[in-house]
Amino acid sequence: MDNHLKHLLSSNATWANAVSAADLDFFRTSAKNPQRPRFLWIGCADSRVPESVITASRPGDIFTHRNIANQVLPDDNSVHAVLMHAIGNNRDDPDGDDVVGEPRDDKDDKPEDPDPRANYIEHILVVGHSDCAGVTAAYNALQPKNPSVPADSLTRWLAPLTALALSLGIGNVQPPKDAITLLVEENVKAQVANTDASAAVKKAREEGRRVWIHGLVYDVGSGKLRDLGVSVGPGNC
Ligand SMILES: [Zn+2]
Repeated sequence: MDNHLKHLLSSNATWANAVSAADLDFFRTSAKNPQRPRFLWIGCADSRVPESVITASRPGDIFTHRNIANQVLPDDNSVHAVLMHAIGNNRDDPDGDDVVGEPRDDKDDKPEDPDPRANYIEHILVVGHSDCAGVTAAYNALQPKNPSVPADSLTRWLAPLTALALSLGIGNVQPPKDAITLLVEENVKAQVANTDASAAVKKAREEGRRVWIHGLVYDVGSGKLRDLGVSVGPGNC
């Protein structure tokens, strides 16, 4: 077996044993109960931004969707299926009870309630990061290129972000480093707006459920998250 894979499997076994040693029932409880994460994290696939590690979270804390440059595209079934699942729009109510809108019990750290309908997320985090290769590629795509070169998957994926950069005149910002930093932030704001406009969030709001969407940027160089202050939701959270 490849040494890197051996090391990864060995690290996993060591980690699982350490978690069990610190909390004998952790995995038993995880397997027995439905997940009740506090956050949905929509972030970049960059390996330097692992949401659970950088927030000192444990398995079960964060429901996650990651792709290149943390996009929430209107025609991307993957991200919209995640949104539906996270905020409860795919759950039936066989009893006919009005459980929608029932907040999770924050005092209950180890819920025994098997009802998955109470398990919806109120806080969605859209998280960009510094030195994002996807954002840089979208910025670079603003430059004229050989039209005979067909667009590849990455270029097609980033086309909406390149269009956003074009609409904001990002190509005129100097130096390029500042332009890319600006595009990282504007991208997060645009994806917060896309999330807010999604069918899943609209339905949740129509049904009176509380959903906030927050925009953050992670600094790869310091390990710190920064709130862009563009949260949308029902007042204070
Ligand atoms: Zn990135």
